[in-house]
Amino acid sequence: MTTTCKQCITQASPVWHHIHRVEGALPRRKSEEDWHISHGWAVELSGEGFAVWTFFSDLPPAATFAIAGRSSQTIHGIDICRAAFEVRFLGYDVRTLMVSNERVNRGSAQMLEALATYPRGVDPSTVVWRQPT
Ligand SMILES: [Zn+2]
Repeated sequence: MTTTCKQCITQASPVWHHIHRVEGALPRRKSEEDWHISHGWAVELSGEGFAVWTFFSDLPPAATFAIAGRSSQTIHGIDICRAAFEVRFLGYDVRTLMVSNERVNRGSAQMLEALATYPRGVDPSTVVWRQPT
């Protein structure tokens, strides 16, 4: 996908039509027939000349994905930010990732808790993660 959007912080990808940085509050959650906004966490993995963004509903899988990705010799940086994922039907589904400035820092108590929580909520047979009770 290509875009000429001036709000985009990086080039569009096969996943995202737009990736925007949001100053202040994220847009409200929305669940309409042709317009959905959900909240969660965006993870950026970056390396030599590239950056890949993905979205997770929950922090534990996002944190685990980021740390595992950083273990790769081709990944030099990670970023974990609170985010919103918008899908809006405009003749086709337009997917926008809205990334806030609220980050989870490596080594923080929030990160360590998320990493400890992930293994307790994942089902290895289905690869589905649910918040452990
Ligand atoms: Zn854009």
